[in-house]
Amino acid sequence: MIKKFIQKILGKPQTATLTTYFGKRVEIPPAVHGIDPSLVDDRALNVVRTLQDAGYEAYVVGGAVRDLLLGLRPKDFDVATDATPEEVKSLFRRAFIIGRRFRIVHVVYGRGREHEVIEVSTFRAHLDNRAAEQVSGNEKTSKSDLAGMTHAVDSSGRVLRDNVWGPQDEDATRRDFTVNAMYYDPESQYLVDYHGGMQDAKKKILRMIGDPVDRYREDPVRIIRAVRFAAKLSPLGFNLEAKTGKPLATMLRLLADVPQSRLFDEMLKLLQTGHALASVAQLQQLGLHKGIYPLLDVVVERVDTPFVKAALIDTDRRVGEEKPVAPSFLLACVLWADVRLGWEQRLSNRVPPFPALQEAIDEVFDARIGDVSGRGKLAADMREIWMMQPRFEKRVGSTPFSLVEQARFRAGFDFLRLRAEVGEVELTLADWWQEFSTADDVVREDLIQQAKSEKPNAPHAGSVKARRAPRKRKPTTQAGETKTDSQAGNSDGHN
Ligand code: ATP
Ligand code: MG
Repeated sequence: MIKKFIQKILGKPQTATLTTYFGKRVEIPPAVHGIDPSLVDDRALNVVRTLQDAGYEAYVVGGAVRDLLLGLRPKDFDVATDATPEEVKSLFRRAFIIGRRFRIVHVVYGRGREHEVIEVSTFRAHLDNRAAEQVSGNEKTSKSDLAGMTHAVDSSGRVLRDNVWGPQDEDATRRDFTVNAMYYDPESQYLVDYHGGMQDAKKKILRMIGDPVDRYREDPVRIIRAVRFAAKLSPLGFNLEAKTGKPLATMLRLLADVPQSRLFDEMLKLLQTGHALASVAQLQQLGLHKGIYPLLDVVVERVDTPFVKAALIDTDRRVGEEKPVAPSFLLACVLWADVRLGWEQRLSNRVPPFPALQEAIDEVFDARIGDVSGRGKLAADMREIWMMQPRFEKRVGSTPFSLVEQARFRAGFDFLRLRAEVGEVELTLADWWQEFSTADDVVREDLIQQAKSEKPNAPHAGSVKARRAPRKRKPTTQAGETKTDSQAGNSDGHN
């Protein structure tokens, strides 16, 4: 209302345009783009302000601007500047230069779990020799040249190193989608757009800047990013532009040259940023159901099995509620069917339950070497979640008391709860543990007595009630949910 009124008095706000070789620079005033400045995080604002006060250009950039434009509160903020990483670092108390292929600065606020990182990147120069030469007189570029930093490209056109600084219009051309390539100055509240990002956001189009085939070749990870943004933005009505979507499947083989660790990280972003089910649906629709990363292939293959589906739904729900999610938990869910099969086979060969489970887990890790093994903590956490499962069925003596104290209890319990949800174990067992974990010692003793009078359940894979129809879970109390907040507390990095 107020905005319309001001517009009426002042006339339509003017956008300034300047055509450059790298696009048309459009400066869009707040009354036109309508971004709510209160959605900008204070820490991001502080980074921009500090850089600007020191005489540099600085903007909020990337996905945060896209989300702001769509009226969403961004989860993380990236800042782009013409200051070099060293210059950025010198302005903040806790700032770290990270990355080799793509050097950026992490400015860190707060500590522990509540800490927040603002990623600050220096404007990159356009990627071709002509442009590299053209900007070679530029001070920033000469600085990076002195440090021996140049664009390095492999035979397929993949960019190996990308630390040549340049002006903002070139930086915009280097970004992936038009809606991800806008700059927002929270001080002046102007939006700078070189590639029609605002129009595309309005039309709900995901469009790759430049020729999509070249851009996927330069960095094949953009293929996975296309899937992620299509999944994230599809509920808002976004679609991939035909030219952007069409080459995806045929270019998939280029991912073979991308380091496994980067693919693993991208897989986790697909699965753990709140759009896991939508991402799998996009992978299927776009013909990318196989070939990105072996574990992701397994997820897509198993998406319709009750357990994996429940795990993905649970993960999406948790992210939506801003609760932490752990890669070890999700991957333990994805590979559980293999562990169970190996466990059952050994039990039927009369191997005792615990060694049988140990061996089954070893076998799964062997089969998946390179996928999860070698990632020390991640694999250790997965093993712990699995190894806890038979112990949940031993509700006698001191076992429950020590189990509940185990660091990974919550993850193990949540796993059990998911198994109960899909009818693999009795719901009463999960309910019992929920109660036990939140009770005091007196009540705990009572619960153990009560469990004694129930039919004993020796730990064995056969106690899995696979044949039973899934039942609806009793709603958990708020307190119960917090106490048994299973994926929480899993600070497991996947390194
Ligand atoms: P999200 O909302 O998931 O954080 P995002 O768009 O912010 O999405 P980031 O990975 O945080 O994605 O990257 C920030 C910005 O950096 C992107 O919006 C894009 O402009 C640019 N960017 C990141 N990765 C690439 C890439 N592989 N190729 C080109 N530009 C990229
Ligand atoms: Mg981001």
